[in-house]
Amino acid sequence: MAKHIAILGGGESGVGAAILAQKKGYDVWLSDAGIIKEKYKNVLINHDINWEEKKHSDDKILSAGLIIKSPGIPDNIEILLKANRNEIPVISEIEFAGRFTDAKKICITGSNGKTTTALLIFHILKNAGFNVGLAGNVGKSFAWQVALNQYEYYVLEISSFQLDGMFDFKADISVLLNIVPDHLDRYNNSFELYKKSKMKIIQNQTRKDWFIYNYDDPVIRSCIQNKEVKPMTIPFSVKKEFENGAFLKNNELNILINNDYLKYDIMDMTIHGTHNIYNSMASGIAARLVDVRKDFIKKSFCNFQNIEHRLESVGYVKGIEFINDSKATNVNSAWYALETMTKPVIWIAGGQEKGNDYSVLSDLVKAKVKAIICLGKDNSNLINAFVKTVKHIKEASSAAEAVSKAYDFASPGDVVLLSPACASFDLFENFEDRGKQFKQAVFDL
Ligand code: ADP
Repeated sequence: MAKHIAILGGGESGVGAAILAQKKGYDVWLSDAGIIKEKYKNVLINHDINWEEKKHSDDKILSAGLIIKSPGIPDNIEILLKANRNEIPVISEIEFAGRFTDAKKICITGSNGKTTTALLIFHILKNAGFNVGLAGNVGKSFAWQVALNQYEYYVLEISSFQLDGMFDFKADISVLLNIVPDHLDRYNNSFELYKKSKMKIIQNQTRKDWFIYNYDDPVIRSCIQNKEVKPMTIPFSVKKEFENGAFLKNNELNILINNDYLKYDIMDMTIHGTHNIYNSMASGIAARLVDVRKDFIKKSFCNFQNIEHRLESVGYVKGIEFINDSKATNVNSAWYALETMTKPVIWIAGGQEKGNDYSVLSDLVKAKVKAIICLGKDNSNLINAFVKTVKHIKEASSAAEAVSKAYDFASPGDVVLLSPACASFDLFENFEDRGKQFKQAVFDL
């Protein structure tokens, strides 16, 4: 067993991994090329864990038998290339923590909807009285919880970056929501590599495990056709009915497993839009597979509160509704936001692009959008994409300016929707900062 472990990245997952590794008797060195947040420094100091910041020291890191890497760090930084040459295994925090727990793991991945679905499954299991933890990209890291808690179940939100560092890890139930091009900068601009990464969610699953997937997603269907899929599969769809699976019929969400029906009126759901029907189907299936009673699932569907920045209704000013969907950082999530809108839209969009193809939005924009306020440093692509379809396009360089310009265009009965289809780093710290500034600007109107 590797006695010395090096951990790269001093954020939530790195510090969690350090705590678990130390508890398991490893000699730990944590290294961050940036500055570690004060709260994490204090944790490291309190646990007597050795660390460094603003550098990666070769001698401390390359002497390790195992490296745990935070998902935000790309594979091609110098220290990792050296580790590779020295044949030191590099794994993710999820892989590491998975080695120290026998809990049943429900693992969710996809390009969009991971957090919402993870939270909803957790909410259902909690309501049903399960001893369950929520981890992965959301909340406290998995490793940290494995170090401190004794959960029987975990709901894990798993990004493709985490999947890349997972080798022996096995999900008991895996959920794949959708695959659309995203983060391709980390995959040599190859959608093929990104798809492969997402499909790792089923690696090591056996015939006794379950794989829940979106049947309506053509990319997922073709990935499944080209791959041996060992676990039992349960599809969900809003277009097709199944004998075992989830589907829509007469505005009711149906979950049918082993001839046992759960039916739920989608009008009673607290989260809206087709994307959230998918998320709810996936969640309902997962809950049924661990034998949650149907009434707990129904109750949970009608009292679930999603977290901030996901189609969050901020309120009304003079009859104009404001919606914060700052987490829509790619074109696909903005598509679902626009599809969900039932009133004329003043659309605040733009930011740091990831090679966006806006043409997929053109029908929705034509049908629903009255005006666009571009909120990015360079808005040229966005403007070019819609200059012929939308009469009013304006630019703004702050959330306050965007809200004020949107308000000028809006009439009572309209909705001002922030759903940028882009990352936020050109003008904001992150998507949370963008959403918060948007909300503040609405409150200040
Ligand atoms: P993730 O954790 O995968 O980033 P979130 O649940 O935080 O996903 O949602 C991110 C954005 O995607 C939000 O704008 C949300 O409204 C939208 N979204 C949520 N679920 C889906 C889905 N199943 N398909 C497409 N977009 C979705």
